[in-house]
Order: sequence, then structure tokens, then C-alpha cells
Amino acid sequence: MIVVLTGAPGAGKGTQADLLVAREGWRKLSTGDALRKHVKAGTEIGKVAAGIMEKGQLVPDDVLLKILSEELSGVADQDVVLLDGYPRNLAQAASLDAAVGRGRVAGAVHLDVPRAELVARLSGRRVCGQCGTSFHVDQHPPKQAGACDKCGGGLVQRPDDQPDSIGVRLKVYEETTKPVLDFYSKDGRFQAVSGVGALEEVYGALKTAIGRVKKS
Ligand code: AMP
Repeated sequence: MIVVLTGAPGAGKGTQADLLVAREGWRKLSTGDALRKHVKAGTEIGKVAAGIMEKGQLVPDDVLLKILSEELSGVADQDVVLLDGYPRNLAQAASLDAAVGRGRVAGAVHLDVPRAELVARLSGRRVCGQCGTSFHVDQHPPKQAGACDKCGGGLVQRPDDQPDSIGVRLKVYEETTKPVLDFYSKDGRFQAVSGVGALEEVYGALKTAIGRVKKS
């Protein structure tokens, strides 16, 4: 069963999905993470995606469909998969239903966060260059400045967390990704929760909402 996590960049989808994976034994598929792996490994997909990602724009749909099939190939029907970062437009939402079967896509759960908070989160975010763990310079600083608490790797700023790219990403989200919420709400496969508040508070609300879409 697939549950789509929607929300603007910086809404906390990745962080909450990691918690759900650790506590519920579910799986997470982040298309952003998968693309960053391709970029790091210098694959053909990585070469196409790198410049587009750096600017904060969307990588073409056919590339994403390849990634989706690649990543879902090892997943069993009974696994619960949290999709983080896909679909990002209406064509991708339709492709997902077509690729895995509409009945397997339980629905979307949305994390709602106001724009000013998104900008603050994205501009202060630092990620471990080795294991990918996220920190924030003010809201969640590492114990030792510049080093990852988990693996000791160096912390870096993602190129697309620079101010110009943040603006583009939020605009793309508003104009292109937001219609995806209607896609799921039109046929009753949608729940929304606030993504602002303490981590555990948001986690609780999100888990309840996921339970609702899984049942519906
Ligand atoms: P994320 O880590 O989800 O913020 O994704 C980082 C970047 O990867 C995005 O700004 C896009 O350039 C690209 N990307 C990730 N998922 C998608 C998608 N579903 N469609 C197109 N581009 C994507």
C-alpha cells in the first residue's frame, strides 16, 4: 500500500517519514534522495538532473517514472510505502495510479506549513554529506558545530537551499504541485494536518491521518 506525503519543500515530510519508518517498520521512498544518489554516482540520470535540481526546478516526468519503477521494484504488495516528493504534478499523480494500480495508492496526507516558516526551515537546514541526516542551525543544531551527531560526517548546505532556489521551489510548489491535493481530495483519498508544532505532536496527528486514508 502506498501513502503519498504532500507538503511544500521544508514542511517536514522527510523527517516525519524517517520516524514512521523507524517506529512502524514502514518504508520510505524519497524521489529527491534517489535523485541525489544518482547525482553523486554520476549516472546518466544524475547528469540530466543535477543542474535542474540545483535551480529548484522539476526533473522531467519520464526520468521520475524510471526512478519510481526502479525504487518500487523491490517492494512487496503488503508493504506500507511512504512516498516523499512524488507526485509533484498532476501527470505524475495519474502515472502513479497507472503504474501501481489505483487501488494500491491509499491516498495523500498533507503537512501544512505557512510560507514564512518554510523559508526559515529551508535556509537554516544543513545536511550530513555522508549519511544525509538533517539539522537546522537554530531549530535543531548538531551537538558539535558542523558535524553530524550520527556519523560525524561534515554538514553542508544543499545547493537548492540557497535563497534563489528556495524561491523557485516554493513557486513551483504553489503553481504545479498544489493541484495534486485536489486530485486526491476529489475522490476522498486526502487528509491534511498542521506541520507546525513539536515533532511528536505533528507525528501523532500525521499517524492518525495516515490511519484514516489507509482505511478509506
Ligand atoms: P526534495 O528532496 O523532495 O525537495 O527534491 C529535491 C529536488 O529533486 C526537487 O527540487 C526537484 O528538482 C527534484 N525532484 C524530486 N522529486 C521530484 C519529482 N517528483 N518530480 C520532479 N522533480 C523532482
